[in-house]
Amino acid sequence: MEHPFSASHFQGQKACVIGLGHSGSAAARLLAEQGFDVLMTDSRALKEVSDLIKDVPAPAVWEASGPSEKALHCGFAVKSPGLSWASPIVKKIQEAGIPIFSEMEVALSFSKTDRIIAITGTNGKTTTTSLTGDIFRQGLPYGQNVHVCGNIGTPASACVLSANPKDVLVIESSSYQLEDSRFFHPKVSAILNIQPDHLDHHGSFANYIRAKARIFRDQNASDFCVFNALDLETVKLARKCPAQRLFFGDDPKSSHAWVEEGKIYARLSLNDSPYLFTPPRLPGRHNLENAMAAILIGLASGISEGSIQKALAQFKGVEHRLEEAGTYRQIRCVNDSKATNVDSTLVALKAFSGFNKKLILILGGLDKGSPYAPLKPLISQTVKTVLTIGSAASKIEKELDGIVPISPCENLDKAVERAFEIGEAGDILLLSPACASFDQFKNFEDRGEKFKKILKRYQN
Ligand code: ADP
Repeated sequence: MEHPFSASHFQGQKACVIGLGHSGSAAARLLAEQGFDVLMTDSRALKEVSDLIKDVPAPAVWEASGPSEKALHCGFAVKSPGLSWASPIVKKIQEAGIPIFSEMEVALSFSKTDRIIAITGTNGKTTTTSLTGDIFRQGLPYGQNVHVCGNIGTPASACVLSANPKDVLVIESSSYQLEDSRFFHPKVSAILNIQPDHLDHHGSFANYIRAKARIFRDQNASDFCVFNALDLETVKLARKCPAQRLFFGDDPKSSHAWVEEGKIYARLSLNDSPYLFTPPRLPGRHNLENAMAAILIGLASGISEGSIQKALAQFKGVEHRLEEAGTYRQIRCVNDSKATNVDSTLVALKAFSGFNKKLILILGGLDKGSPYAPLKPLISQTVKTVLTIGSAASKIEKELDGIVPISPCENLDKAVERAFEIGEAGDILLLSPACASFDQFKNFEDRGEKFKKILKRYQN
């Protein structure tokens, strides 16, 4: 099957991009560069989008409080991945009989390369995508380049024209982007894990899983898909996969990659003897899983064992994900601001489970509605004091009451100050808040940056 969107089919028609955002602007820019008349529409009022319109590329025009009559007379529309199909603006455009395509679908229709690698999963996408990008950067022959894009920050629309026919696109694919794709054919794909997430957008867990399955739906027997053998939903999905399946797990007999005594063993066929890799120096079993996935993607793409090993050795992880933020006054500081939910904080605490009672943990921010009680066993084991911040503080204090000392700190400044008052040499100060950041920060990146900036004040 060809890409469902074909530029020649819509030549001369007006394009409507739904959603004034990062991906929308990139799609508008791409279509404008390809000679289309572009109108960007957004249902939000002018004052809500005024920050976003600075990103609208010059030849495109935009409207707030859309869709207008003009938008309803476009030849085709491009939907930003964050918008639900059930949102009124998308429904109105659909009801007007206008064909709607996803941002990624439109972007890939202009791609000169079909060397596409796609990575999805509830958790670990950005880390694995970033490491996979490094593996290709190390291993591709001279003259071939890798372009890392998708959910990781650079929309596919923004990088697709710069990719030459032999270049590789490594795409971090969220369930939003996958659900929109009618046709998506990566040569190598990976599903890292599947837990209930984004159910408000997808409507049900079954729909979320269906969206994830689109990563391999259009693959064939000459392609590969990497699965997590220890993740129930992922294993169930693997049965439906038409590509060659590669599993990372813990059983050397049935896995293509596994960990033994801190080393990763990996091979493309269960009959082959495995290559041996030293994983990146990052904390936690989850990072070993991300590394196994990236190694299998590399091997399946023909990247040499030596290049993979080099990339692993140089990989320092991704900012704001259990990021080493320095040692101040003999206290090791770790920035895990990306832990915006309880599950992510659990992953962080597991990664430090060997450090009994050495952790000073900063929790809090904007509550997401889940209970904090699942944190109790690991907090009792690893944490000496919890410091709370943000609007979720009182809920956290109530739900974690009685297990370890809790010190209410209101904000990050006070929390760090308190940490250095109570901290002793050899302790670890961990910001892994289990909450969204929007009550006190622009986003989790802003929270992580501020944390690192505050720490600098304690540089003796
Ligand atoms: P994503 O892009 O899917 O959000 P990231 O690589 O940005 O994933 O990691 C975000 C958080 O998810 C990390 O801080 C960590 O807590 C958790 N995480 C990362 N990798 C995994 C994994 N393989 N399994 C479970 N949790 C993970």
